[in-house]
Amino acid sequence: MQTAPSKVQHFIGGSFCASENGAWIERENPATGEPLRLVARGGASEVQRAICAAEKAATPWAATSASERSRVLLRIADGIDAALEALALAESEDTGKPLSLARSLDIPRAAANFRFFATAILHETGESYRTETPQHALNYVLRKPIGIVGCISPWNLPLYLFSWKIAPALAAGNVVIGKPSELAPMTASMLCEIASRAGLPAGVLNVVHGLGGEAGHAIVSHSQTKAISFTGGTATGAAIATVAAPAFKKLSLELGGKNPTIICADADLTVAMPEIVRSAFLNQGQICLCGSRILVHQSRLAEFMAQFTAHVSGLRVGDPLDSESDLGSLVSNEHRAKVQALVQSGIDDGAKIVMGGNAPIRLSARVARGAFMHPTILLAPPQESRCVQEEIFGPVVTVQSFDRHADAVRLANGTRYGLAATIWTRDLSRAHRMASALDAGIVWVNCWLLRDLRTPFGGTKDSGVGREGGTEALRFFTEQTNVCIATGAQL
Ligand code: NDP
Repeated sequence: MQTAPSKVQHFIGGSFCASENGAWIERENPATGEPLRLVARGGASEVQRAICAAEKAATPWAATSASERSRVLLRIADGIDAALEALALAESEDTGKPLSLARSLDIPRAAANFRFFATAILHETGESYRTETPQHALNYVLRKPIGIVGCISPWNLPLYLFSWKIAPALAAGNVVIGKPSELAPMTASMLCEIASRAGLPAGVLNVVHGLGGEAGHAIVSHSQTKAISFTGGTATGAAIATVAAPAFKKLSLELGGKNPTIICADADLTVAMPEIVRSAFLNQGQICLCGSRILVHQSRLAEFMAQFTAHVSGLRVGDPLDSESDLGSLVSNEHRAKVQALVQSGIDDGAKIVMGGNAPIRLSARVARGAFMHPTILLAPPQESRCVQEEIFGPVVTVQSFDRHADAVRLANGTRYGLAATIWTRDLSRAHRMASALDAGIVWVNCWLLRDLRTPFGGTKDSGVGREGGTEALRFFTEQTNVCIATGAQL
């Protein structure tokens, strides 16, 4: 039986509300094709209301002690844990990802983000300098909340990435206007309720739903948003920068990736293979960090392809609610069409399709209309092919070979992106040499997606500007004042 779509409303000044003009966006479940949500379609007037609510809340929240802010954030983390099942289901329904993945990765990480910044803020350290010329002085640096900040996040890891921004923003004493992707808005809405119950004062966290060009643009262009933290596509990041930069807003951009996985001549394939497969196809390949370009030393290519295809053919594509499914559906049929067009362009450019593509998938009746796609392997595309150069953001990998390890670095660095890279080798010296030569914000050696939240996270080249995580995020969400006190004599 089909159920009525649930309504996802804005959260402004501590209350849920619809848009002033009563506009909604219809969103269907990408796995079943059935109507799922009516998402409030906000714009400039909702953002203005959120700004007014945030302005009222800004001074009291900034004046709240770090230990009290920490306690509220820890209660939010507990609230996320307590709502794990409901949040995971909403995430799976919105995006088509396996429920088991949302339960094991997305939601626990969202709680971890709150816990991490709730405790990080208690261990803040400062800078001070004893100055001896031209006069004796003591300099120290004050860090203050910025005020109203905009946090805009994508659909692929909805709560995980939304909380990765708003947890440090709130911990540092800012007030937030957030906008999740309209494709996956539900868990941001549920988070508002959790935060409210945890004691977050009204107006400190506001969420305006809607389209990027409307609600998103209104947040970025509003004169009162002093910083914008954005995660999403490179083209969107460029569009946001053209609006935010002339207004001198602080800007953090986490953008697309086209990440190489390098299999060196001495790689231990038995250990590596499960991680290589996971890095290629986790979340249907819709993670900015996915290893979508596999580069294999020529001497290991035949062995690699035999093992890789055996592993990939064991992956089950199916109903996201089925615990046996390794891959669920893509986020929409439109997105699948874009992914398939890039696969076709790879074939047209001379790549051999080893597996996947448009091959039919046996699906249960419930999900027969969903946006599913087989894991797809394209062998030996030319380096200049669009399937190598462009972010596909789907269950598609290219496999290229190289003769010398220096060639692997050249191929790896040969795109506009520079987010992540993975090296599989047993030679530690080679790992160090390659890691320092790769254009990437993060290099994993003999692992993938192993994250320590204290480390700086972000991309080089067209993969972004700035870093998130640990002290980098707390620095981004604070303004600095250097206080210089003449001491007259040496201290
Ligand atoms: P988009 O860039 O399309 O959208 C991201 C967010 O920005 C959405 O909330 C979107 O709203 C909003 N938006 C769109 N246009 C504007 C605008 N002009 N002004 C303000 N906001 C706007 O990305 P996707 O949602 O498609 O996500 C996939 C992309 O995200 C991939 O490129 C992926 O690599 C990248 N990504 C990067 C990560 C990183 O850490 N580097 C992590 C995860 C993903 P709406 O949905 O309504 O369009």
